[in-house]
Amino acid sequence: MSHSHQAQIDAFMAQVTAQNPHEPEFIQAVQEVAETVIPFIANHPQYAEHRILERMVEPERTIIFRVPWTNDQGEVQINRGYRVEFNSAIGPYKGGLRFHPTVTLSILKFLGFEQVFKNSLTTLPLGGGKGGSDFNPKGKSDTEVMRFCQSFMTELSRHIGPNTDVPAGDIGVGGREIGYLFGQYKRLRNEFTGVLTGKGRNWGGSLIRPEATGYGAVYFAAEMLRTKGQNFDGKSVVVSGSGNVAQYAVEKCIQMGAKVLTMSDSKGYIHDANGIDATKLAWIMDLKNNKRGRIESYVQQYPGASFHAGERPWGVACDAAFPCATQNELNGDEAAKLIANGCQVVTEGANMPSTPEAIEAFQEARILFTPGKASNAGGVATSGLEMSQNSLRISWSREEVDERLLNIMKDIHAQCVTYGTDESGYVDYVRGANIAGFVKVADAMIDQGVV
Ligand code: NDP
Repeated sequence: MSHSHQAQIDAFMAQVTAQNPHEPEFIQAVQEVAETVIPFIANHPQYAEHRILERMVEPERTIIFRVPWTNDQGEVQINRGYRVEFNSAIGPYKGGLRFHPTVTLSILKFLGFEQVFKNSLTTLPLGGGKGGSDFNPKGKSDTEVMRFCQSFMTELSRHIGPNTDVPAGDIGVGGREIGYLFGQYKRLRNEFTGVLTGKGRNWGGSLIRPEATGYGAVYFAAEMLRTKGQNFDGKSVVVSGSGNVAQYAVEKCIQMGAKVLTMSDSKGYIHDANGIDATKLAWIMDLKNNKRGRIESYVQQYPGASFHAGERPWGVACDAAFPCATQNELNGDEAAKLIANGCQVVTEGANMPSTPEAIEAFQEARILFTPGKASNAGGVATSGLEMSQNSLRISWSREEVDERLLNIMKDIHAQCVTYGTDESGYVDYVRGANIAGFVKVADAMIDQGVV
């Protein structure tokens, strides 16, 4: 990179850091975009003239609110709720809700900022937003979760709507929470609309939405492998997480003939050298989704496997890795281990799971690496398809939605190749995703004037 580009990036980041103190995750997400987009803007002065990137790092609106509720003992509890409405240049705000004790404004701003680029890549008319709460659904009864969701939605309902802002799930927000949130919105507004996505099948949800993020990540990885004349057949795969994204990434890897060796949760990872097959995965899904159990129980059910408490799975030798749990869960040292063990492709299912040091290591080793904003966009894309079906009041078949998802993932891959290929033919998917996502939003912002 030239000295003048580096100086521009440093000046821009100094300003962002000064304006957003105590927001390290948000600053990390902006830095990654700035490093690739600022050199591009240098050759496209219209974006500098309209101060597009400066406007894009400022959310259009941030809502922070009190969420009071009572637990099963009748005691009053207080949590903090958020919705960051980041950018609506190309469509209504769209992005998930996260319920996890680590939720802060910084986490939601990083997620909302990335969402703007991701949603642009999907080819659908979706703006970007994100929200959630520091509420921890773990260990709570269904009635406690319901009362929390009802209180959260009582305030959030003033700010969202099917043409304004359409939230979905994320960590800690699955089908149960979306149901309670939707029920309360409908009751308050007396309207049955597609105000949330990830809804139940018999009340407006789309087929394939639960599978979409995980399936989409594997479709994207298969496209990357295809550029090398390879596929997943016989490849060994390491996955982190055991939630929604991880479960369906594993399912699709198995369907494509890969051998999945690991899954994890926040307490550690399981390693099954014989491979997690469809039967074992069905057992895990029942454990996590119905019994709300811990992944370590796997080794009682399948004694050939081992559980590694407090560890992450990146030391296990593999051909392909899918980080599908949370942000900053794969650091530079772990990236070096993956590379040394022969890993050829790293596909982010989670948002920002690789630290900047890890990304640098993958790119220096010139292995296939894709950021979540490209490879996990299948979830929000299928949410976009759910919105279309709700508006049309129709329901597409499983095959039809899956086909659309596959084509969207192929399209996102092609956009990354267009903007990310360097002179040697290496595809920098980070640069490709950031620039392709940026251009569509930036051009819309120029068209719409200074708003
Ligand atoms: P879930 O809540 O279904 O699962 C999250 C998984 O990650 C669980 O196994 C959880 O373990 C683990 N995890 C969560 N926090 C931590 C932590 N701090 N340290 C270690 N492990 C952790 O969430 P999703 O599968 O929906 O989301 C996973 C990732 O994918 C997130 O980054 C999310 O933003 C991203 N994503 C999700 C999409 C979706 O459609 N759901 C779309 C695009 C991106 P435990 O049970 O122990 O907490």
